[in-house]
Amino acid sequence: MTQLESLRPTKNRRVMDLVQEAGIDVSDWANYAGKSPAANPKYCYDWAFIQPDRVVVLNLWFFGIYEHNGNLQLSDNLRLQAERYARRPDKSTWRRRSEKLDEAVRYAYSKRLPIRAIVLDGHARAHEDIDAEASRVEARQLDPVPWAVTSYNDQTGEFTVTRGALPGRLVDQFEIGGNPNFPTEVRSVSGTEFVRSAPVRKRVLNRADGRCEWCGEYGFATHDGAIFLETHHIVPLSEGGPDKSSNVVALCPNHHREAHFGALREGMRESMLRKLR
Ligand SMILES: [Zn+2]
Ligand SMILES: [Zn+2]
Repeated sequence: MTQLESLRPTKNRRVMDLVQEAGIDVSDWANYAGKSPAANPKYCYDWAFIQPDRVVVLNLWFFGIYEHNGNLQLSDNLRLQAERYARRPDKSTWRRRSEKLDEAVRYAYSKRLPIRAIVLDGHARAHEDIDAEASRVEARQLDPVPWAVTSYNDQTGEFTVTRGALPGRLVDQFEIGGNPNFPTEVRSVSGTEFVRSAPVRKRVLNRADGRCEWCGEYGFATHDGAIFLETHHIVPLSEGGPDKSSNVVALCPNHHREAHFGALREGMRESMLRKLR
């Protein structure tokens, strides 16, 4: 059996039980007039559940999961779906469900939380066909392996979740393998090798929290699920700038190059220093 095929659910377990197993507090499910907490309509139709600062649980259709470079992934855009439903008042439940899913993915990405996946099988409604009949879940199981959001496009809502990935490891150009050539960073001047403190870079990456400290956009996701930004000395080491977090910023690759080569680099330098002061 392939890695992917072994993920196909065979049992049809209750949403509430799976969500609870994944670490979500389900005590509020009992707060309604019906007999069974598991049937509480406030929750049981949701496709995303958030335990603040701990974990996010998502329903993922098995058919949407694909293998890429040995990883199991799923990509979607729930914001687009929500917009489609928004034109139809009779689809407001579906719209809300998509919006909640988008919110949960965004939350997991920004907080760097693990995802637990409830994998669904059955008859999925065609995404594009707004009048297709509602999907029918015939089997659902909780994947024991945690997933993580490995990319989320703030502008469009496009995202990818990856099975087994670590959520939001933050890396810069010195940590990433393969030593790509970074012409912007002076490695040595007249034989002097500048040593960069790893703890300083870590501190700066944590401070930036995955977003470029110039434009505020998320860095891109690397193939193994980390968030990539480049650390940059505002006053270069070669000019005697200190190797301290007050002189280092995390930038997206574009703004890193601009800080070195842009027409406005002097102004950028000044305002970066001011911001960190
Ligand atoms: Zn930027
Ligand atoms: Zn630089």
